[in-house]
Amino acid sequence: MRYVILSKGDPKSEALKHKMMCHMQDFNMIEDAENPEIVISVGGDGTLLQAFHHYSHMLSRCAFVGIHTGHLGFYADWLPHEVEKLIIAINKAEFQVIEYPLLEVIVRYNDEGYETRYLALNEATMKTENGSTLVVDIDIRGQHFERFRGDGLCVSTPSGSTAYNKALGGALIHPSLEAIQLTEIASINNRVFRTVGSPLVLPKHHTCHVKPVDHGTILSTVDHISVKHKNVNAVQYRVANEKVRFARFRPFPFWKRVHDSFISSGESL
Ligand code: NAD
Repeated sequence: MRYVILSKGDPKSEALKHKMMCHMQDFNMIEDAENPEIVISVGGDGTLLQAFHHYSHMLSRCAFVGIHTGHLGFYADWLPHEVEKLIIAINKAEFQVIEYPLLEVIVRYNDEGYETRYLALNEATMKTENGSTLVVDIDIRGQHFERFRGDGLCVSTPSGSTAYNKALGGALIHPSLEAIQLTEIASINNRVFRTVGSPLVLPKHHTCHVKPVDHGTILSTVDHISVKHKNVNAVQYRVANEKVRFARFRPFPFWKRVHDSFISSGESL
């Protein structure tokens, strides 16, 4: 089994990474950062997001596992004291692979033929570069839907629905549903300006285009990555064809993770 371990870089995560690598050697596992079958992140959800972006070019060939050295994460749900059990299970290939949908983001510029493509595991947001009001036209399936004015927009995946989307009042969506969710960030609503005000859940193949009205400079985030784009004609959002694969060694249902993260970690569902 070829593996790679990416650590958050703090002393606790680095020590755990080192301990795991010693165990892996005992099992003749091969460290292969170029072509791993298993990508193990040690840290938190942020570390797993970084690992995802590092290996996003080979998602069909690798599966991710997250170990948390801080608080329980949505993607990082293994505890440091469980790593021996985890390594044995990896070696016995005693795992299922579960797939979660991703968001595809394509930024198109006014210079025709030029575009940038991203995949998001959690979400993508659009804001202005200086915090001024974002004014954009939103089209859904080629039809004008509304003109949005406000701080920004967030488009999330089902597994990202428990992250920024949740803080914006979006719904929590089970990752078995291939969908994306569009939520508003502080829209301006009064007698003159109007937006729908509710989060929208779009199924696969319903594409959303967001077009800057005044000028084409936007600040776009994709998960933890923030990029300024100039001269933007439109940004396209839809469910990606690619999926992220997680290696599952034991059941930890999505709603149980929601319960343990947001309600109480003491009781079970
Ligand atoms: P980070 O590591 O500090 O992450 C922020 C928090 O988001 C952490 O507590 C992490 O556990 C949690 N988180 C990440 N993915 C999650 C998920 N799918 N479900 C539930 N919680 C999740 O910061 P970072 O490394 O820059 O992470 C970027 C993420 O932070 C973004 O993808 C975004 O979802 C999140 N974020 C949240 C808010 C908010 O809730 N108001 C604002 C900005 C960004």
